[in-house]
Amino acid sequence: MTRVVVLAGGVGGAKFTLGVRDALVRRGAPEPTVVVNTGDDLWLSGVRLQPDIDSILYALAGVNDTQRGWGRAGDTERVNEELQAWGAGWPWFTLGDLDLGTHLARTGWLRDGASPTEVLERLSRRWPLGIRMLPMTDTEVDTRVVLDDGRDMHFQEWWTRYRATLEPVRFDNPGIEVAAPAPGIAEAIAAADVVLIAPSNPVVSIGPILRVPGIREALAAASARVIGVSPIIGGRVVRGMADVCLAAIGVETSASAVAGHYGARSAGGLLDAWLIAEEDADAAVSVEGLGMRAVVAPLWMSDVAASAAIVEAALSA
Ligand code: GDP
Ligand code: CA
Repeated sequence: MTRVVVLAGGVGGAKFTLGVRDALVRRGAPEPTVVVNTGDDLWLSGVRLQPDIDSILYALAGVNDTQRGWGRAGDTERVNEELQAWGAGWPWFTLGDLDLGTHLARTGWLRDGASPTEVLERLSRRWPLGIRMLPMTDTEVDTRVVLDDGRDMHFQEWWTRYRATLEPVRFDNPGIEVAAPAPGIAEAIAAADVVLIAPSNPVVSIGPILRVPGIREALAAASARVIGVSPIIGGRVVRGMADVCLAAIGVETSASAVAGHYGARSAGGLLDAWLIAEEDADAAVSVEGLGMRAVVAPLWMSDVAASAAIVEAALSA
């Protein structure tokens, strides 16, 4: 029996989660739980968007746009054009028609009084996902990007509008200190054999999850082994702009520096083991020097089989 909990962000998290499902189905393991970052969530044109949750939901359901990397396959943008004509929403942020269907359903249920956890449970019922999805918290906590001129903006504006070109000095999650983990997270972590940290953005995807009071403590107290997968291969981010985020918090873009950022559980940190890419095999010594196991494996998530092989390498670590 391998009971698994995954912590994940959006697109990298989705690719990894597909591999988790594949590997665990083959092992006949119980349904894993994925805890998803909600710091990117926002209200726009009256609807609630949950970008990282939807990336994973659509990927598990097999309805994601694999070419574009986000949203629904075969989506159209008729409603978006109309919103732009009204001057509603953000001119640099596109909402697909099918995607808006999700946001409307979600917003309606939230307005009827359902919690984000309950809403996600309802959204998950449409397809046989094979994975239980949980938001990191039911509290609305944004990720804000603070710039050196003192301005701050929602993460989504910094990422999509400015393409991470404005230099950040800090990422904040105002109000997170009074947020609680979504119901079920503490229990899932306590019952887990393995907790996997997806190769998601360490700063703005995994960071907010770990900042929810109680989650770090639950991981520290867990009997599960906590195993992370490096999002950095050969000293570079695979896609996206995680290097800018890492630089802002003073962490070098390297597999060993990210391992140091998470820290070894043996030294009060998070990880028992850290998967690094073959390209970074040289870093194994310094990673082990931090007090955790280093496992060298191919880390390119080029398809589901490749992601599943990464999960297998983690489970046998
Ligand atoms: P977002 O929320 O959509 O930005 O996605 P995530 O935070 O879940 O994932 C973004 C991270 O995934 C980036 O930092 C990438 O370096 C990493 N990533 C993307 N593809 C791969 C891959 O094939 N292998 C590994 N190891 N990391 C990847
Ligand atoms: Ca994200």
